[in-house]
Amino acid sequence: MLRLISRALLCLVPVVALAQGAAPVADLIVTNGRIYTADDTRPVVEAIAVGGGRVLFAGNASGAMALRGAATKMVDLGGRTMIPGMVDAHGHVAGLGDALHIVDLTGTTTYDEVVARVAARAKSVPKGQWVLGRGWDQNDWGDTRFPTHDKMTAAVPDHPVYIVRVDGHAGLANLKAMQAAGVTAATQDPTGGHIERAADGSPAGVFVDNAQGLVRRAIPRQTRDDVKASIVDAVKEAQRWGLTGVHDAGAGATELEVYEELAKSGQLHFRINAMISDNAPTIDAWFKRGALADGYGGTLWVRSIKLYADGALGSRGAALLEPYRDDPKNTGLLVSAPAHIQDVAARALKAGFQVNTHAIGDRGNRLVLDAYEAALKANPTADHRFRVEHAQILSFDDIPRFAALGVIPSMQASHQTSDMYWAEARLGSGRLLGAYAWRSLLNTGVVVPNGSDFPVEQVNPLISFHSAVSRQDARDWPPGGWYPAERMTRDEALKAMTIWPAYAAFQEKVLGSLTPGKYADFVVLDQDIMRVPAELILNTKVLSTWVGGVRVYAAAP
Ligand SMILES: [Zn+2]
Repeated sequence: MLRLISRALLCLVPVVALAQGAAPVADLIVTNGRIYTADDTRPVVEAIAVGGGRVLFAGNASGAMALRGAATKMVDLGGRTMIPGMVDAHGHVAGLGDALHIVDLTGTTTYDEVVARVAARAKSVPKGQWVLGRGWDQNDWGDTRFPTHDKMTAAVPDHPVYIVRVDGHAGLANLKAMQAAGVTAATQDPTGGHIERAADGSPAGVFVDNAQGLVRRAIPRQTRDDVKASIVDAVKEAQRWGLTGVHDAGAGATELEVYEELAKSGQLHFRINAMISDNAPTIDAWFKRGALADGYGGTLWVRSIKLYADGALGSRGAALLEPYRDDPKNTGLLVSAPAHIQDVAARALKAGFQVNTHAIGDRGNRLVLDAYEAALKANPTADHRFRVEHAQILSFDDIPRFAALGVIPSMQASHQTSDMYWAEARLGSGRLLGAYAWRSLLNTGVVVPNGSDFPVEQVNPLISFHSAVSRQDARDWPPGGWYPAERMTRDEALKAMTIWPAYAAFQEKVLGSLTPGKYADFVVLDQDIMRVPAELILNTKVLSTWVGGVRVYAAAP
């Protein structure tokens, strides 16, 4: 009901009237809190008033109470902390939903454990049907070489199995799956991909980057209902962790249709900024249609394209300027041609879209910056806000180019705390100085939106918040932080999951801070993440999550 009222009032609540001094009546007043607003004009307040799904007032209690009417709902925070709704600037929504539905291999510490989890699931799946999983990481095992299929094939002989590495850039197939896909010793490595092979040339089980398509094409396609179920479940999961929005880093035509269907019918109580996957017909259709901003009551934005420059560091697919220290003949992979990035970027500028390109290695990042620079030179655009997703390993020469070109580095602080154990083995110490270098980037004047890349990392946005300020893992390792000069302040880290993601999606006029006129998205926490010692941040519990002034999640009492 509250939702209906909110929707009906959405267009009517006159922000203009506020300016003129008329006093609207609040639907909801939240008082007695320590409320961080991410708005520098009034960073901490004690109360807010909400009407029509938007913030009417943020300030002291008496100012908020002045907007109280007979039907106004009151919430007393009891001194607790409230922050603006957290937004993950880079997550994979359907991928998270899928991960909730398939075998979860995160946290496994041996290949045997992976095999056991898959074999346990296979027991409840009819023979011949695929068993899918995600989340293994051989860097967490005693033997950090890529696994081979033999153990999996022996344990699960009758089901095709395909399990994706934690970063999504490699996958392991068992024999049944390789047979179903028609992959043999005669199959050649595709462009931008690599098949791990046994001594006799037969596929060993692991498929890296574009080679994954050789196996994936044999997996039955998801139905539209599967996609919808994944999205709905992922949104619910995200809200549980205090997220009120996500920048979906790659949505295909079906996902975009499902988002629009949910948004149109008022079922999407969440803010999705969907980046369109790199698929020519889908991109062309959206360029023709034009950008969708603040659609369906501020639940859907479609105004950017997601491209890929290279692979990932863990699977040695990140494109480097110099070879991998632990693989001296390998400089990584280019997943798409630089000319393609430049072409899409040029067309996006004309069509009024943003381009957000995945780049992990220093060569990948340089190629993207070069492609953006060339596209911008041909199509000068003052406010393009092109992004590099990850911007993980940068040559020193390229760090100032982000600010110079107006390009936003969209980073995931938790990647640093996940990768730090083995990043030096891959890169050597010299290159680490330009890796996960958010402080160096901030110092050049850019904003650095933070994200998790879920399901690559866990959904909880406070993990990346903690990594950003401490550069330590959950066990406070290493003492003092990993390359601690690159830490953010808490104030910056709060902005990195609120107002900076909003800016990075052209949403800052309606989202990202508890500022009158913006959507009333906020989260109540059980402790003050801005003031507790850093080692206590990860103990924080989300008590409730609110989108447009409506509570979409409440912790069990
Ligand atoms: Zn991603």
